[in-house]
Amino acid sequence: MKISILGSGSSGNSIFIDTNEFKFLVDAGFSCKKIEERLSEIGESLKDISALLITHEHGDHIMGAGIISRKYNIPIYISQESYEISKVKLGNIEDCNLKFINGDFQLSETVKIQPFDVMHDASRTLGFKILGKNGKSAAISTDIGYISNITKEYFKNIDILVIECNYDYDMLMNCSYPWDLKSRIKSNNGHLSNTDAAKFICDIYSEKLQKAYLVHVSKDSNHPDLVLETVKKMLYENNIELDLEVAHQDRASNLFKIE
Ligand SMILES: [Zn+2]
Ligand SMILES: [Zn+2]
Repeated sequence: MKISILGSGSSGNSIFIDTNEFKFLVDAGFSCKKIEERLSEIGESLKDISALLITHEHGDHIMGAGIISRKYNIPIYISQESYEISKVKLGNIEDCNLKFINGDFQLSETVKIQPFDVMHDASRTLGFKILGKNGKSAAISTDIGYISNITKEYFKNIDILVIECNYDYDMLMNCSYPWDLKSRIKSNNGHLSNTDAAKFICDIYSEKLQKAYLVHVSKDSNHPDLVLETVKKMLYENNIELDLEVAHQDRASNLFKIE
C-alpha cells in the first residue's frame, strides 16, 4: 500500500492511495488542475485513478470532485446526505459515476472500505478504514470534533493513520477569530486539537502502526512545529516510537510505501 497526502488544510484536502492494484483519492478539495499537478509531483496521474471517496460536503473536500469525475470518468462515492447538500456545486454526475455510501463496500476485488460516521458540522461526515491486499490497512479522519469509542475501534490494528491536528488550544484562544468561530472549532462538532489527536494516537497505538499523518493543520491557530512537538512529547511519555509527518497545504507529501 502507498499513500501521499496531496495537500491538507482549510484551503483544500486530498489523499492519494494505491493498494498496489487499485489507485484512488479520498476527497478532492482542490481544483482539478491543482490535483493533476500534485499527482504529477509524486509521479502519478488522474488517468490512473479509479475512484474518488468523499468524506463530507465542505468545499475544502469536494471542490474539484465534479470536474474530475466528468473529465476522467471517475466514480464518486459519497453519502446521500452530503450529495443532497452539494449537488449544485458538484454539477452533473453521470448516474453510473454516482455511488451512494451505505455501509461497508468493496471498492475492487481486493480493496474493502469501512466508512464510519464522525462528529463534525456537515450534514454527514465520514471517516474511512481501508483494507487492502496482504492485510494492509489505513484509517483516515480529516475533520472530526470528537473521537468516540466507536471511532477508535476503526483505528485499531492499522498500518497507516491519518488524523486531524487542527488547532493548538492556546493559539486558538488567542488568535483573531471571532468568539463564535472559536467556539464552533473547539466544539464536539468542530475540529480536533493537537492534544486530543496526540491522546488518540497513544490510545489506538499498536506495533503494527508504521506511520501517522497529522493533517488539516490550521494556519491561524496552529503551526506544524507545534503539532510535531505536542504529538512527539505525548508519544515519548507513553514510550511510543512512531514515524510522524505533518501534511502541508501547498505541496504533496512524498509517496510512502508499506510492504
Ligand atoms: Zn469540514
Ligand atoms: Zn475540512
